[in-house]
Amino acid sequence: MTFADLKLHDALLAALNEAGYTEPSAIQAQAIPVALEGRDIMASAQTGTGKTAAFLLPGLHRMTQTPGGKGKGPRILVLTPTRELARQVETAARSYGARLKIRTASILGGMNYQQQQRLLQRPVDVMVATPGRLLDLMNRGQISLDRVELLVLDEADRMLDLGFIEDVELIASRAPAERQTLLFSATLEDRIAKLAENVMNNPERIAV
Ligand code: AMP
Repeated sequence: MTFADLKLHDALLAALNEAGYTEPSAIQAQAIPVALEGRDIMASAQTGTGKTAAFLLPGLHRMTQTPGGKGKGPRILVLTPTRELARQVETAARSYGARLKIRTASILGGMNYQQQQRLLQRPVDVMVATPGRLLDLMNRGQISLDRVELLVLDEADRMLDLGFIEDVELIASRAPAERQTLLFSATLEDRIAKLAENVMNNPERIAV
């Protein structure tokens, strides 16, 4: 199988080609077609399997298909347990989206006020955030999730370990109900299934 078989936008295929990726990884081959259908997914995949591209590629492809709603808030929102992972996801989004006019931003705990205000003044397409700081800004009315089409919970098990479950559920409840949700976790134990039940709509289970 090739990335072209997955019918991704030419701009994404060019970026993949440039990165030197020839074939989709197992999680990419399984998740991308399901995600492109618009379905919710709960996937068990460790770091290093190519899970980041498994959610960013269908997300970015989807963004190329419609203009997006009015407003400044993100169309794709990725929640991560740590700042370091958030930075990696943002870098990947910039790289895959290099030929699309996408604007990315990270909203991270510990970020200074001025830097954050600067980020929030302009419209954003892909936002990567740690849950606590994002919720804080939502509660102050500084970020709206009205435009969110795709919500990604990356490393959901680690977010639960770090005590973010209530924040994640609250954030999900404030995004439009008709959004798509993709969840990635090293394991799919009961507490992850329970979270999935609360924030997802009949998810397809994928394991690699
Ligand atoms: P991840 O599991 O998302 O952290 O990705 C692990 C590493 O694999 C990252 O350095 C990616 O850039 C790289 N990668 C992702 N997809 C592919 C692919 N299809 N072929 C080769 N490398 C990839």
